[in-house]
Amino acid sequence: MGTPIPERIRRSDDAIEVAWDANHVGRFAARALRLACPCAGCVDEMTGRPLLDPDSVPMDVAPLQVELVGGYAIRVRWSDGHGTGMQTFDWLRAHCPCGDCAPPRQSPLA
Ligand SMILES: [Zn+2]
Ligand SMILES: [Zn+2]
Repeated sequence: MGTPIPERIRRSDDAIEVAWDANHVGRFAARALRLACPCAGCVDEMTGRPLLDPDSVPMDVAPLQVELVGGYAIRVRWSDGHGTGMQTFDWLRAHCPCGDCAPPRQSPLA
């Protein structure tokens, strides 16, 4: 299996919806996705230790803009001013919070 390519990505104020195909849509809750930011400012590159203090991210943080990066990732510009993190399609697919991929109760991103 190669890199999964979303058919459609839709932004709303409290979520980013990634449609892998017509029948498979993962809805990533905005704040959970923000907290999962993998950039060097949020996660220590050497140790993988989280640097981001969840308390510093507003409860109502919203994705202002979603930009495609090189056909393999998205970069989200957040309402808290953050905008350097990329989520690859591989990562999004692996963490798809839909009911088929992850029981909603067990996914921190649902
Ligand atoms: Zn970040
Ligand atoms: Zn899914």
